[in-house]
Amino acid sequence: MLPLVALVGRPNVGKSTLFNALTRTRDALVHDQPGVTRDRHYGVCRLDEARPFALVDTGGIADGGVHLVTGDLAGATARQARAGADEADLVLFVVDGREGPSSVDDEILAWLRKSDKPVFLVVNKTDGVDARAALAEFARYGFRDVVPVSSAHRQGLDDLVEAIHERL
Ligand code: GDP
Ligand code: MG
Repeated sequence: MLPLVALVGRPNVGKSTLFNALTRTRDALVHDQPGVTRDRHYGVCRLDEARPFALVDTGGIADGGVHLVTGDLAGATARQARAGADEADLVLFVVDGREGPSSVDDEILAWLRKSDKPVFLVVNKTDGVDARAALAEFARYGFRDVVPVSSAHRQGLDDLVEAIHERL
């Protein structure tokens, strides 16, 4: 079985875009509306052909059918994140480098810290912004492994895959 890497994070940070970039598919739904990815989606990343790994795009709707529009966004997203983390070998906590940390990010991180899985911080949307400043905004999260990427522009993906392999 391939090792499994989970993408977790609040809606609209670019999880599905990153999933597509890593798996080179359009299997995951990408949409401007938060909460569009309703299920978990699985794929395989073969950017390093010798070392493929499985990828799961968690997002959108929590188990239990809590709808993000009417329900508790932070709680629902955090539960989804936790479910994804539980089955994964490694978690990529994806955040939005343009918007900086939000209270929903804080809540997801609190959930992730209850799991004993290794977690990377992936700061997405660093295209067209000062990547160092974007990373600095998340310094208080205290991650050792922080990878800036632009999923939409396919920037930083090789470094991300390399970092993933170092930890799998
Ligand atoms: P998800 O809800 O976390 O799965 O986020 P999506 O992948 O659906 O993306 C949400 C929005 O962010 C879409 O409009 C994407 O085009 C946009 N987006 C995703 N990645 C990037 C990126 O690297 N840079 C920029 N500028 N926009 C991005
Ligand atoms: Mg999505």
